[in-house]
Amino acid sequence: MGQEPSEVLAVRVGVADGRLVLISEDANLDVERASNGRFGSTPESMFDSWDEFVDWANGVDIDEEPAPLEKLENPVPCARQVFGVGANYRDHIEESGAEVPTAPLIFTKFPSCLVGPQDEIPLPSRKVDWEVELVVVIGRRAEHIDDGDAWRFIAGFTVGQDISERVLQFAGPFPQFSLSKSFPGFGPLGPMLVTVDEFEDANDLELGCALDTIVKQESRTSNLLFGVPELVSRLSATCILLPGDLIFTGTPAGVGAFRSPRQFLQPGQTLTSWVRGIGELRNPIVAGPKYVAKQF
Ligand code: ZN
Repeated sequence: MGQEPSEVLAVRVGVADGRLVLISEDANLDVERASNGRFGSTPESMFDSWDEFVDWANGVDIDEEPAPLEKLENPVPCARQVFGVGANYRDHIEESGAEVPTAPLIFTKFPSCLVGPQDEIPLPSRKVDWEVELVVVIGRRAEHIDDGDAWRFIAGFTVGQDISERVLQFAGPFPQFSLSKSFPGFGPLGPMLVTVDEFEDANDLELGCALDTIVKQESRTSNLLFGVPELVSRLSATCILLPGDLIFTGTPAGVGAFRSPRQFLQPGQTLTSWVRGIGELRNPIVAGPKYVAKQF
């Protein structure tokens, strides 16, 4: 099954021990060392010249100097803009009782909330909810991009959790999305960035999450109301998208707030989140510094 030399192959990249690594089945390859310094040790150096990086990564023999797999960290710690999309799966809109939006509902997750695939999520209250999401990573500066051209501006995908504190979110007369989704630890990301070439159909990926052993959400990204190319197109019509920027594309049905009875995260639980073909987050839930065990 030889690949044409000009064909772009999938690249899987992450951060381990603070350094950018190429990832294969059983090894990490330190990017700075393997490239003799052509690329640096941080993801910024990869995003500075994404096309060159992908070309280089496809030509590297990953067996040349394998290093043991270290614990993977947040693969995109350099994100400057983090967009979130609310109400973007039909079944989630249904469970929430909201009307179907005619344009994407956009908020931000402030980047200080981003953490790695195995980091703890500290609870600020007893009303913290899960939202598994496919996360788009921008690879090139994008401004006024058409839907049909959008994939060229995408570096790849990773898995994310749009952790949400529901009291702050719905406390006032208007929803408070950005703040309620930006507490420390509220943006677990990883375990790696995978280029879109990896997927047979990049518009139809299976995703889900489980609390301990109980599956809470299961869906496919083909159920997105506004799909990935349209989100890039619509966002880039307003904001200049920068390499390393993230788009949390929305969550399917099965969050805790719309269950009967309602369910929320509790200290001691483990939240597992996945997108098939990318990998899995496993985040322990812990009590945050202001957490009150019995509020009611
Ligand atoms: Zn969300």
